[in-house]
Amino acid sequence: MSTHPTTSPEEIEQIHASLRQGFRSGKLKSIAYRKIQILQLGYLLQDNIERFKEAFAADLGRPSLETVFLEIDSTIGDCKLAYDRVEKWAKAEKAPFNLNFFAFGPVVRKEPKGVILNISPFNYPVWTAIGPLIGAIAAGNCVLLKPSELSANVSGLIAELVPKYMDPDVMRVVLGGVAETTKLLELRWDHILYTGGGRVAKIISAAAAKTLTPVTLELGGKSPVIIDPNCDLTTAARRIMWGKSVNAGQTCVAPDYALVPRDFEDKFVEALKAAHIEFYPKGAINSSDISTIISPGHFTRIKGLLDNTSGKVVVGGETDAERKFIAPTVVRGVTETDSLMSEELFGPILPVMPVDNVDAALEYINKHDHPLALYVFSQDAKFKSKVFDNTQSGSAIANDVIIHGGADGLPFGGIGPSGSGCHHGKYSFDEFTHLRASMDSPSWIDKILGGRFPPYTAKKESF
Ligand code: NAD
Repeated sequence: MSTHPTTSPEEIEQIHASLRQGFRSGKLKSIAYRKIQILQLGYLLQDNIERFKEAFAADLGRPSLETVFLEIDSTIGDCKLAYDRVEKWAKAEKAPFNLNFFAFGPVVRKEPKGVILNISPFNYPVWTAIGPLIGAIAAGNCVLLKPSELSANVSGLIAELVPKYMDPDVMRVVLGGVAETTKLLELRWDHILYTGGGRVAKIISAAAAKTLTPVTLELGGKSPVIIDPNCDLTTAARRIMWGKSVNAGQTCVAPDYALVPRDFEDKFVEALKAAHIEFYPKGAINSSDISTIISPGHFTRIKGLLDNTSGKVVVGGETDAERKFIAPTVVRGVTETDSLMSEELFGPILPVMPVDNVDAALEYINKHDHPLALYVFSQDAKFKSKVFDNTQSGSAIANDVIIHGGADGLPFGGIGPSGSGCHHGKYSFDEFTHLRASMDSPSWIDKILGGRFPPYTAKKESF
């Protein structure tokens, strides 16, 4: 028996049919109408900020500053960007001049794909659910959102508000978990966006393959941090501690673990301790500035990894099962075979793994799946280039963590096991746009290109 609200299979079929009909109606061919819908999404968030803060607090114990800074503001910002730029993005593009083809008037038409399914996770249930759909609607698609059952309060609020703000021909919400998503995957979509873990991504991809439906995968993995002793250590420690604590480490681009030169480990750990004390002067367990873990299952998983570490807990370490609370924790002296290095932590624990040098750090990273983000803290341009030039990852960031997800003009996405495809701003528009090649060939062209028609005479061939 499910404990969260669900949409029945019959309703799912009706919603699917009505979105198909909505797309066929052609109302989103009008850019002006797309803009109204984008504006409505922005108002949906802005008008209800207080309710979103409450829902986030109920689901994730999330401090409201984090909700507004990391999720609501950036998603409203994306609405504004799309509203201002959609005419430019949607304009057909002339092909570059080519003497052989200019008379055909070759253009690339920017066309919607159709009806988009977005299956989103619990950890940023607005940014991952509504964010990419702004671009999808800007591109003229109708959209169906299946938010996470784990973030039940935020998902429920979105399901309540979407019918109040959005045209039901354009955007609908289906609530539920595995059974409902499985039902959705039996239906035909024109593109599926899935954000979540790699295991489920394989299920989604296999289902989409049956109908050759294109898929965008926004996944996760272990995003490393490489520390150069020649870094601004205090700043690095504060930023890494913040990146590990925000949303209780349940961030797809959270710094997962740190690789530190062996003889610099003491100093690095001391700096992390100082940051921890600065952030939580009365102790993390007494702070209201830390989110909690989403579910008892995830709490048990993360605590189990911590209980089994062979490293030494040097910062934090407190847990409270009743509140699903885990303090931001640093574990030093971690080795490759440690429990904390076995999977994406998705919790507020930072394993510090000492390495001999940067080459050993790069070797370790390159032995493993390409991560969603890779971070380096260094004041040395050559060091940073060496790290970026000798690794592959979704994003490559020096001297900060996480906030690139909100940076205008940058795509957000992984590579290989951390995902394929990307979104954010114009990249969302592009992801859900079909580039339709178009030409109009005038009759007189045959006076020049008539040689293409049979019979293929020797004279034509020598031309
Ligand atoms: P999840 O894979 O458990 O769930 C995500 C969605 O998939 C939910 O809507 C859920 O209902 C659905 N789902 C779960 N099991 C399913 C099944 N068997 N069949 C069909 N659908 C199923 O992911 P999660 O735990 O909510 O999110 C955590 C993961 O998401 C982490 O790995 C994190 O790194 C990743 N993530 C990535 C991004 C990104 O943008 N790249 C953003 C946020 C989270």
